[in-house]
Order: sequence, then structure tokens, then C-alpha cells
Amino acid sequence: MKPIDLRSDTVTLPSPAMREAMVRAPLGDDVYGEDPTVNRLQELCADLLGKEASLFVASGTMANQIALGVLTRPGDEVICDQGAHPVNFEGGAMPALWGIQPRTLRGERGLLDPAEVEAAIRPENEHFPRSRVVEIENTHNRGGGSVYPLGTVRAIAEVARRRGLDLYLDGARLMNAVVASGVPPRDFAEGATLVSLCFSKGLGAPVGSILAGDRDRIREARRLRKRLGGAMRQSGVLAAAAIHALENNVARLAEDHDNARALAVALSSLPGVRILHLVETNMVFASFAGRDAAELVARFREAGVLANPEGSRPDVVRFVTHLDVSRDDVLEATRRVSQAAAR
Ligand SMILES: *Cc1c(COP(=O)(O)O)cnc(C)c1O
Repeated sequence: MKPIDLRSDTVTLPSPAMREAMVRAPLGDDVYGEDPTVNRLQELCADLLGKEASLFVASGTMANQIALGVLTRPGDEVICDQGAHPVNFEGGAMPALWGIQPRTLRGERGLLDPAEVEAAIRPENEHFPRSRVVEIENTHNRGGGSVYPLGTVRAIAEVARRRGLDLYLDGARLMNAVVASGVPPRDFAEGATLVSLCFSKGLGAPVGSILAGDRDRIREARRLRKRLGGAMRQSGVLAAAAIHALENNVARLAEDHDNARALAVALSSLPGVRILHLVETNMVFASFAGRDAAELVARFREAGVLANPEGSRPDVVRFVTHLDVSRDDVLEATRRVSQAAAR
């Protein structure tokens, strides 16, 4: 029985066509700025995100940390949702790398409220940390793949601008938000000083993220990337996969979203199962009525479905749809989950 892997959209494998693009890519030494494929990707992404420049980095975590490193000084504070990726899933990098601390807010499905952001900005006073950056995540992972309304992003950007803070948009799954909402990526990114995008999530590339912003910030980002050991040489072989992903795998994210909705509908008909959030993109958070998610996930694995405990509550399992699972896979997964949960 072939396992159906719904743990994350990071598990996708590069397709034959993507591998072909990687093999054919013209290459050079990117530390000298001479990799034509990396340069092409960076120009493409700067344009896509409406920024002057962009930088290819190893991971979404590296993009986030370089962005925060560029925008802060030690002792500064970053306003973000309590479920934000840099707070929960980056190994404590904010204090460890930059000496900065998060000021976490309780967003609705991870989405911040502009008035609460404004209220969290510290007054100028030597006792207080300096509020320096507002960080938002679109889509929001811990919020169940939730999508920011464009008006909310604009209102948060306006608060940040008016109060002299920078906005950083963690767009690891920005293209999911774009496809779900019809809002162009540059519109979501407009009020952000820096914005990132990940190629190895739903877009299906094996490695890499992009960080975009103005020329000065991206020059500084390049220095920090070097400092972190993330300056790579013939990385065009990876950038080629990212270009292929942007050219071929964006519009099809709608299929992942449809599949996630189908999965949510099917799961919600199982006894005791409740879907926690509105399914806007490719994630389904299912609560199994007080049962232990880790134990359930082990049963699902035996039955041929891979999923992860979601983590915010002990009875919630997270299912993520992606490029390598079809509608049939999703429906078959529901049958397997149904039988395994009933046992
Ligand atoms: C996955 C993810 C990242 C980056 O993760 P990497 O595994 O380091 O690429 C950043 N932000 C969000 C919201 C994510 O979901």
C-alpha cells in the first residue's frame, strides 16, 4: 500500500520536468554574482513582488532571520502573532542571532488586527524595548493556512509606516494566498519593507526561498546571508527549480485548495471529528474529540496515511494537500483515516 503523505507541502519531490530544468540551467559562481540562473530568478522575483531587488536564500527560516537581522538592532522588539514561524519553528533564532525579542499578539486564525498592532507599539521611553518591526504571515501556517484580507495588510502597513516601524511579510506560502484571493503578490507586498516567498512548500521545488526589498536592504541581506554561511556557489541548479516552479506550479495551487476542502468535508462526516478553521488554502486542522493526536497519527501511519499532530491542542491533527497528492489520494486517505480512527 502506497502511503499518502499529508504531513506537509514540503514533502513534494521535483518532477521530471523540474529536474530537466535543473540539469539544463546555465551556471556560475553566485558569490561573484555570476550565476545567470540565480540572477534571472532574483530579477523575476523582484518584479513579481514589486521590489527593487531580491536575494535567493537557502530556506524560509533563513529568509525570515535575514529580514529580521536587517531591520533590527539588539534589544529591539518584533510585533507578531503568537503562532508566528520565527517564534515557534526557528530554533530560538531571534534572540540567539540578533538579540531581539518577540511581542506576541493573539491573532484571529493568526491574522493580526491593525488596532491591536498599534496598541502593542511601545512608547518612546528608556525603560522599554524599541518596537521596530511588525511581522505578518500570509498565509498563516498555525492559523490553518488563513489568508489576510488585502485591506487588513494595508491597514497594518499604514500603522507601521505612521509609527516608524518596518513591516516584514513572511510569505512562505504567499502564492497560496494569491491564488485563493486573486490579489496579486505585489499588492500584498506593497507596504512591506521586506517580503519572502518559499519555493519548497506548495510550489514544489526542492530547496530555496527569496527575500525581496529595496536595493540597500538587499545589499545588507547579502552580507547577513554570508555571515550565516548561506552564500552558495553554483546555486543556479536550485534557482532553476524555483523558476520552473513559478512558471508551472502557481495556478495549480487551486487544486490543492479544492482537495483540502474536499478532505475537510469528508473528514467532518466522521464521528467526533470537527474541522477547526475555515479551509481557505491547503491545510486542514481536524479535532478528534479529545483523543490523543500523537496516538491517532501513529494509527493513521499504519493505515497508510501520514499526518502530523498540529500542536496547538492535544487532539488536533494537521493534514496538508500538495502537488504530489491527487483528489483520489485525498478521498482514499479519508477512507483509511476513517477505518483507523474507528478501530
Ligand atoms: C515553512 C515556513 C517557513 C520556512 O521554513 P523552512 O523550512 O526554513 O523553509 C517560514 N514561514 C512559514 C510561515 C512557514 O510555514
